[in-house]
Amino acid sequence: MHELSDTPVLGVSFDHVSLLRLDQTGGLAPGNKAFKLRHYFFEAKRLGAARLISFGGPWSNHLHALAAMGCQLGVETVGIVRGELREENSAMLSDARRWGMHIVYVSREDYRQRNEAAYQQKFIERFAPSVLIPEGGASRAGARGCMAVADIIRRKAPLARHIVVPVGTGTTMAGLVAGLDESFEIDGISALKGAHDLTQRVKALLPRSARNSRAHWRILHDYHCGGFARVNVLLREFMLAFETIHGVELDPVYTGKMLLAIHQLRACGVWHEGASVLAIHTGGLQGRRGYSWLG
Ligand SMILES: *Cc1c(COP(=O)(O)O)cnc(C)c1O
Repeated sequence: MHELSDTPVLGVSFDHVSLLRLDQTGGLAPGNKAFKLRHYFFEAKRLGAARLISFGGPWSNHLHALAAMGCQLGVETVGIVRGELREENSAMLSDARRWGMHIVYVSREDYRQRNEAAYQQKFIERFAPSVLIPEGGASRAGARGCMAVADIIRRKAPLARHIVVPVGTGTTMAGLVAGLDESFEIDGISALKGAHDLTQRVKALLPRSARNSRAHWRILHDYHCGGFARVNVLLREFMLAFETIHGVELDPVYTGKMLLAIHQLRACGVWHEGASVLAIHTGGLQGRRGYSWLG
């Protein structure tokens, strides 16, 4: 747990904002991804599958974590990567290769079929015996793994009631909704532009045992800064100022936008500067290497 100081960032204080530093847990696979992937490693062992296969772009935090965990746990991994010639040497992919991930490049067109059963089956057979993980680990099994984050919150921040978390697929959010009761308020900050079906997606990701969860939650859609992985001037200025003042590194895709949301909501008085907030730092710092302005 990391309490931020009251020194203002662009005029707004982060007093009473705490960070749950998942970015500092998990060794080579820091952040939320290890929670989502855990189940699949058990499943591979249980089924006697030699390989885990998944999908992602050339900077995917998900594939990065999969490769790292596979290397450490002795399970082979296969990354189906959306081909972008300029990015084939991304720092993410060179880590993944070093950790032994077998990389298969596919065209943007082919990549669109990633959620289709017939397309997935081809890879499952080609790399048999194998288990396929949906892109981003988006699954009920992944959400069940993220219920462990709720346990950490109860243990390390027993007084926290207002939780803020970045949202991509909504799997981590679903784990929190499932794992926390009606005394909590959970705000998810969407990293995507106009993904108004996220509420439905989170509901579909709730583990069966949690269908009746009574936690209060919602998704906020106004902090995407132009779209997924896009950066605008405000986000850039905010992140540079925040990092200088608070000494905590952020990533531009998820955690930077989450903290910008807190900044904006406090700036316009929707959230009071004195009200306690627990923000989940979900990691993603490997992706900073793709943004030269972050040095
Ligand atoms: C993947 C990721 C998220 C989004 O998690 P979902 O479970 O897909 O919503 C948030 N933060 C970081 C740093 C991530 O890498």
